[in-house]
Amino acid sequence: MSNRYITYSPALTLVPTYECFNRCSYCNFRVEPGQDAWLSLDEAERQLRSFGVGRTPSVPSPLRPSAEPSSRQSAERHIPVVTEILILSGEVHPQSLRRSPWFQRIYDLCQLALELGFLPHTNAGPLSFGEMEQLKSVNVSLGLMLEQMTPRLLETVHRDAPSKQPERRLEQLDWAGQLRIPFTTGLLLGIGEDRSDRITTLEAIAECHQRWGHIQEVILQPHSPGRTQGFLAGAFAAESLIETVALARAILPGAIAYNSAQPGPISRNSARLPRSRCPRSRRHWPSG
Ligand code: SF4
Repeated sequence: MSNRYITYSPALTLVPTYECFNRCSYCNFRVEPGQDAWLSLDEAERQLRSFGVGRTPSVPSPLRPSAEPSSRQSAERHIPVVTEILILSGEVHPQSLRRSPWFQRIYDLCQLALELGFLPHTNAGPLSFGEMEQLKSVNVSLGLMLEQMTPRLLETVHRDAPSKQPERRLEQLDWAGQLRIPFTTGLLLGIGEDRSDRITTLEAIAECHQRWGHIQEVILQPHSPGRTQGFLAGAFAAESLIETVALARAILPGAIAYNSAQPGPISRNSARLPRSRCPRSRRHWPSG
């Protein structure tokens, strides 16, 4: 075959906060609102600089011009191993007085990452149209898992998760299209949906992409039980995952990349693992 390539992009994950007002019953990531210290800009800068950038911004940002390297050799010397920064946050309630400082912290982290020569990609749960518009200026792309379109899950795993209204999440994809923001989304598999639900969700993503042409990637994230979750189902079966990949190939437009993260628990620690193991985002999730 002519196009059998495996590509990857090493990424560093920054977690502005683990606090989240949702209580998805499969989550091992969240802490109670107000009980987590937010990531400071100083600590974020320390982590970012530990990846060897910041001394010389070396990745030309599409949003901010940077100095031309004097030669190809010097450019190569400064290319960092990690270029993508995933900003992966728990959610503060839209009506909370802390929403505004929470959003500002996320914005500032993105801006810091950009200034140090990285490419930020944020997944912080559902955003207002205005918040999304602001984040566009400091991100190369945004993400939000659609998870599953069936409203049945609002009576089970999402009973206490107001952010998991399927229509609201689909609206986020649509807004990203209106704002011309490259977007990553995906399905969470094995949380109580069935095959026909997966087809419906894939079709919803395909339809949105056909409208705006902005979905860059779809993650097929299999559930794998963690240590602190209340949801008692086992891991999503490997055979079902293969079948879902086949469905995705059949339903999603060819321009959309898709990937399936390896099964792994959704935990606070996992958010610091490479993207393929971590929840909540492009190539991974605690959903969000
Ligand atoms: S899965 Fe995401 S939205 Fe749900 S409780 Fe965990 S962090 Fe919050």
